Amino acid sequence: MTAATMMPSIQIVAPKAGALEVRQVPVPRIKPDEVLIRVRAASVCGSDLHIFQWDESVRPKLLRASDNFARPVTTGHEFCGHVVEIGKDVREIMDDPKARLAVGDFVSAESHAVCGKCYQCLHGEKHVCVNDKIIGFDRDGAFAHYIALPASCIWKNDADLPWEIASIQEPLGNAMHAAAHFPLKDQRVVIFGLGPIGMFAAIIALMHGAKKVIAVEVSEYRAQIAREIGVHEIILGRPAKTPEERAAERARVQKAVKDAAGMDGPDVALEMSGHPDAITNSVKAVRRGGKVVAFGLTKDAAYTFDNYSGDVIFNGITIQGIIGRRLYQTWYQVRDLVRLPEARAKLRKVITEVLPYGEFRGGMEKMLAGKAGKVVLDFAK
Ligand SMILES: [Zn+2]
Ligand SMILES: [Zn+2]
Repeated sequence: MTAATMMPSIQIVAPKAGALEVRQVPVPRIKPDEVLIRVRAASVCGSDLHIFQWDESVRPKLLRASDNFARPVTTGHEFCGHVVEIGKDVREIMDDPKARLAVGDFVSAESHAVCGKCYQCLHGEKHVCVNDKIIGFDRDGAFAHYIALPASCIWKNDADLPWEIASIQEPLGNAMHAAAHFPLKDQRVVIFGLGPIGMFAAIIALMHGAKKVIAVEVSEYRAQIAREIGVHEIILGRPAKTPEERAAERARVQKAVKDAAGMDGPDVALEMSGHPDAITNSVKAVRRGGKVVAFGLTKDAAYTFDNYSGDVIFNGITIQGIIGRRLYQTWYQVRDLVRLPEARAKLRKVITEVLPYGEFRGGMEKMLAGKAGKVVLDFAK
């Protein structure tokens, strides 16, 4: 139990850009199947920036969760913290019949609360549950001193895992799910887009023994971090506006990727940017029979193939869409990764800011300006 009755919480308080505020709200009460966690740290996701800017993509969920802003919604979904209260019906966690939870345990959480009952859930595909609820969007999130969550979401961390690393496991899990979908050992891999998840994917490709890791990125700031991580070759994208300029830039990047990979292109392309030209490049740059992992979301949800028959069918490529994390296979893979000192050192290069939670606005603005990697908010005080 906790003695506190009120707590600070970063909430979206109105349906407009910039409407995130720290407010004092009641500490949540748990249901019998839930767990109360005292948040230690939480990291800022690209989707939190969509909330900050009140983008189209996040509106329906937040309007529903807030009942049209009759009540504000606590944001945030990537975090770590300590268990303070366990509901009376809580049994196992992590889909592991042997895993038990105790007050004081250091935990993180899967951000997609799944139903456990739909066809997908019953067939080992909980990451595509048709009834999933995302914390920080569909229900109150982790940018607060306390969060209440269904026990089925709880992931138990190693007690000695550094908290700033523990707080980023959810997006690291996205990267793991995307990067490790196809085996990377001895493969030639290209990554389009070095946002934090693209950067994490690069780390995973390197740690999983890819023979060559190539990245395509427009920002020199991010390219520099990638060099420090050990990415073998970086192709800097150049600005292109008109259709002719864009076509020329696509051709230049495709050739540069094929040249860097050798043979007739990389074995695997990880599309982490969502930019239509990068999607096209990922499909055209992989070798015949290559694999494309589709992770980046396009801005307006649309994408058109310019040579579907040739690029996809005749070239015999595989395109795999990735959402969320496999429950809980991906989390186990992440645990193995974050136990390695070399992986921790690389991950720390991507975490460019650790800020008191009250300074979230500055952190988000820096991310929007492309001047930050992963931003972690400290909720200790
Ligand atoms: Zn996220
Ligand atoms: Zn389900």
